[in-house]
Amino acid sequence: MERVPDTIVCEGCDAVYSRPTLRPRDVARCPRCHSELDRHNGDQRRRILPLTVASLVMFAIANGFPIVEMEMQGLRSQTTLMGAVVALGTEGKSLVALLLLATTLLFPLLQMCILVYLLVPLARRRRPAGFAALVRAMQTLRPWGMIEVFLLGVLVAIVKLSSMATVLPGPALYAFMVLTVLLSAVLSFNPRGFWEMAFDTTGREAD
Ligand SMILES: [Zn+2]
Repeated sequence: MERVPDTIVCEGCDAVYSRPTLRPRDVARCPRCHSELDRHNGDQRRRILPLTVASLVMFAIANGFPIVEMEMQGLRSQTTLMGAVVALGTEGKSLVALLLLATTLLFPLLQMCILVYLLVPLARRRRPAGFAALVRAMQTLRPWGMIEVFLLGVLVAIVKLSSMATVLPGPALYAFMVLTVLLSAVLSFNPRGFWEMAFDTTGREAD
């Protein structure tokens, strides 16, 4: 059976230490090179599921309501971010449209879905099927799911769309603002935390 290893290797100088017992807010540092060895993240672990669910709700509002008003073939119409991205694609800017689709829609949505899939069973002290593969996927997706990438996507969307559309000060825009704040907390979650949660489920593993 897997257990949390008793030893930690310093990422800075390769020194080996026995794992310290941490209280909330504690950070263990290497006495030789002051690299971070381990930190207590119980609070973050408790907050991550409610934050993810709130993000999904905001994501639905942000993408369900029109965010821009644009003129196409002489007709003024309001459209969602998805609709605007599609419009960008048909204007011959398919590369920009594809990047926007990935950074502002697909990657955040994919990460939120994987988080919910992993966190709901873990909260009930069960390990979901495909746990290890999905945690690895989260680690691989991480550079693409960074809040900076999301913000850059939103920024490019605003710049690109402002030439052909007017941003609407409605529910979608406000939901996007809240979503940005929530996502910055959700996306900063270190996938290492999943393993720590899974180790707490000792004896009741699904796979
Ligand atoms: Zn060290």
